[in-house]
Amino acid sequence: MKLNLNIQPLNTWINTGKQPLLIAGPCSAETEDQLVATAHLLAKTGKVTALRAGIWKPRTRPGEFEGIGSIGLKWLDRAKQETGLPTAIEVATGKHVEEALKAGVDILWVGARSTVNPFTVQEIADALKGVDIPVMVKNPVNPDLSLWIGALERINGAGITKLAAIHRGFSSFEKSAFRNEPMWDMAIALKTQVPDLPIINDPSHICGNRDLLPYVAQKALDLDMQGLMIESHIDPSVAWTDAKQQVTPSALAELIDRLTLRKADV
Ligand code: PEP
Ligand code: MN
Repeated sequence: MKLNLNIQPLNTWINTGKQPLLIAGPCSAETEDQLVATAHLLAKTGKVTALRAGIWKPRTRPGEFEGIGSIGLKWLDRAKQETGLPTAIEVATGKHVEEALKAGVDILWVGARSTVNPFTVQEIADALKGVDIPVMVKNPVNPDLSLWIGALERINGAGITKLAAIHRGFSSFEKSAFRNEPMWDMAIALKTQVPDLPIINDPSHICGNRDLLPYVAQKALDLDMQGLMIESHIDPSVAWTDAKQQVTPSALAELIDRLTLRKADV
């Protein structure tokens, strides 16, 4: 069954000239210096399409760093002004959406722990009514294609046509080399059901470590996914969140150089 969502082609709302399309930046905005310095190094590689950073962090367990909060939006804006990179953050409540829009964030995404909850997704969708901004929807933490599609429908139903999905892998109780099982079939099934929908791959949260990133990123491009979201930190060893999976901007540039572009581009 094919689903007709009202979706604008990717190249009408994000620069698809860079190959591959790459959204990069730290898991979390930690300090103004960390964010701005990382952004400058990423911009200097010439390979980055947009800057990502987590401002509000959905931590699985309490007692860990839960994001720097609203003050980080100012740092993100400074990074944008200084580098020219459009910015992307996760939103998990209606209030996050309001604050992000006020702060001039360019792209929003719904995180895996929000996509599982239709009330949360609907709250985000309601806050987006009448707004024209790109929104990306990560897959839910569990391998439930309907929840993923349902979230996309809710956001699209609010009038968001600059829409994409992010494939970040799925929780599994089984022991695995991956932090989140890629379950590539889920992304393929999404593409089959919603053919117009761009899918961006997030190797960072699939792998949970740096070593597997090239393999997963290449596989995503081989499957004709439209881009990558990869976490990059100026000094991953001291990152406050997801330290094991982040790469320096220069390591990211090398990783991208070694990828073979998807067939459609050659
Ligand atoms: C993130 O992008 O840092 C994040 C929390 O991702 P996910 O929602 O995929 O776990
Ligand atoms: Mn992260």
